[in-house]
Amino acid sequence: MPGWTDPAVSPRVIEHGPRDGREVALTFDADLTTLMRRRLRLGTVESYADMRLVDELRRTRTPATFFFTGLWMEEYPQETRRIADDDLFELGTHSQSHRAFRRACFNLGLVPEEEMLGEVIDPIVTLHRLTGRATRYFRFPGGCHDAAALAAIRPAGVTVVGFDVFSGDAFCDSADVIVDQTLTQVTGGSIIVMHLGGPNAPRTADALPRVIAGLREKGLRPTTLTRFLAAAGDADRERGPGSGLAS
Ligand SMILES: [Zn+2]
Repeated sequence: MPGWTDPAVSPRVIEHGPRDGREVALTFDADLTTLMRRRLRLGTVESYADMRLVDELRRTRTPATFFFTGLWMEEYPQETRRIADDDLFELGTHSQSHRAFRRACFNLGLVPEEEMLGEVIDPIVTLHRLTGRATRYFRFPGGCHDAAALAAIRPAGVTVVGFDVFSGDAFCDSADVIVDQTLTQVTGGSIIVMHLGGPNAPRTADALPRVIAGLREKGLRPTTLTRFLAAAGDADRERGPGSGLAS
């Protein structure tokens, strides 16, 4: 199963892929909190699912990985299935309700430690029920975690996926800024984080075609996490431990 880690050991934490290759991973977080859901109910926000992003990835045959919150999948089951139906895309989860797993993580509310494991497992179950696809790739909300959080979620058997390139698309109203910030930071092995639209990522869809073109100009190839990690595993076996992935 993609991302599986033996629960007997602490979850693997991946911040980037092999630096000696030319592959990069484009990743999209599908955030939804209870507050955001309330805005949808009140009609103050129309949508947190900008499917133009998915259309652009498909049009350009660009592999990408999506990290879904449980609340997002419950709100957008058809969109979830549409993404999961395409082999171009790898899947991961991003907690049930996008609360933080440690203090001082942006302005996110805090998950009590006894709820952490459920916050990780619930969306894994939802994704499997909706799409038939199983995954153990997981990203912490805000990318924030500590040793206590890693210990609490260990029975879930996940691989924790961070990122080394923050596209800056969250609440950013300039596509130019997103394109520049992404392309100046990116290098071989980068994991780039973006967001799946709505008012939390208003210009991501405008920036994405230029990001994809810019990666290509730099000779970088988007790929999926599993291919990334398989390549790194091969490299590790050849060179011995200590090379390849950061922890
Ligand atoms: Zn998020």
